[in-house]
Amino acid sequence: MSGLVINRADIVLKKTSYDMAIVGGGFLGLSLAFYLRKLLPEASLLLIEEEGIPSEQGMTHVSPGILDISQVASKDKAKFAWGCKTLSHLVQETGIQRSDRVVFKSGIRHFVKDNWVKGQAMPLDETKDKGFDQMLALSQFPSSFYDATGAYASAEAASLYYGYGAVKLGLDLMLNARAEPIGEHKLRLKRLEYNRFMQRVVVKEEMVQAETVIVALGAKTADFVEEGWGELLPYKQVYSQYPRIEVDKRLPLKEGKVDLPIMAARGFYFRPQGEGLLIIPPPLPADPKGYKPEGANLLGVRVGVRRELLELFLEAMPDLSLLGWESLNLGKTVANIRAAWDVITPNGEAEWRNPSENCFALVGAQASLAHALAKAYDLAAHLAKLNTRPWSN
Ligand SMILES: Cc1cc2nc3c(=O)[nH]c(=O)nc-3n(C[C@H](O)[C@H](O)[C@H](O)COP(=O)(O)OP(=O)(O)OC[C@H]3O[C@@H](n4cnc5c(N)ncnc54)[C@H](O)[C@@H]3O)c2cc1C
Repeated sequence: MSGLVINRADIVLKKTSYDMAIVGGGFLGLSLAFYLRKLLPEASLLLIEEEGIPSEQGMTHVSPGILDISQVASKDKAKFAWGCKTLSHLVQETGIQRSDRVVFKSGIRHFVKDNWVKGQAMPLDETKDKGFDQMLALSQFPSSFYDATGAYASAEAASLYYGYGAVKLGLDLMLNARAEPIGEHKLRLKRLEYNRFMQRVVVKEEMVQAETVIVALGAKTADFVEEGWGELLPYKQVYSQYPRIEVDKRLPLKEGKVDLPIMAARGFYFRPQGEGLLIIPPPLPADPKGYKPEGANLLGVRVGVRRELLELFLEAMPDLSLLGWESLNLGKTVANIRAAWDVITPNGEAEWRNPSENCFALVGAQASLAHALAKAYDLAAHLAKLNTRPWSN
């Protein structure tokens, strides 16, 4: 039987006690909900999300979604392969018919400084046709290789399939409600609505209790667990920005979209995004607690890109000439740059933890969506007391 979607404050939450409650309706909360409904249908389940789905607050909205097997440790290859295959077949996996495309098989062209890597110098014609010679100082990259399995995924589109799939299997989904922990088994739900000044205000509060609470709040996970269970999680945070190179005559277009594979060089990715390119810089180190995102000062002009990233760009520019293009949009304020707070876990991988008897935490960190998905499945299977995993068959 389908579950309820409780998206307005005037819809009263009839059931106030659940076996399980998930806090956070991003990619991880929703995919976990789907697999819990599938693997443990007897357990009643509520998911609380502060916004709608897909939420515009959090990592899922911003995730570049790069799926690059060359970055995967051999111990994780089976999980990654299962994650990529599943993301590519979400209609079959969730039983939800939608037209949203999730995986874009663009391929990844790796430009490598070492000349012993399995690739050889790129065929000249392709270099010219695609204009790589204008984007990178190819003399600095003696080798390159093309990985046709390289792709990128829309975390937002994927979270919609899982969200609708989980409700169809019986999940009660509460939207526009901010959850606050009040003791081990209880959550206060602040129901939100827009007032006539278009401000989001709390219009009423409700309580719900659950035997088990799973916190999937992305960068807010550690604070929520500390507040509710007094347990400290070893997570750090970093404010990650993804500037864009806007439309530029040096970027080849096909049907109005950039016709290039993802380019990987010097720890950067350049991913096609409409008529431009999304820049995915190498991850920055963790920010100190209390850090407030602020744009840098470039030759006396305030820009939206933070100083540490600007320094990375200036350092890489001799190799990556496209970082010097005037079509690089540095923004005027941080609000102009696509960005999200990101969780840094001890080993940089997606993970779940059980900090207290009835509390679990699930975070994606900077690992790929494919890994994050496998972690969500793994936690659902653990809670359903299953020993097998689809990637180990
Ligand atoms: C910087 C960065 C780069 C990444 N790069 C890649 C990549 O290249 N390739 C790739 O495959 N994956 C990548 N990922 C991973 C992927 O994006 C994440 O694993 C995934 O999006 C994690 O989603 P989430 O559900 O954990 O978090 P979020 O999407 O942040 O979800 C948390 C949700 O909780 C809600 N919320 C917050 N507070 C409350 C509250 N009090 N009550 C109720 N709801 C609340 C928010 O509205 C939000 O919807 C990247 C992630 C980040 C952050």
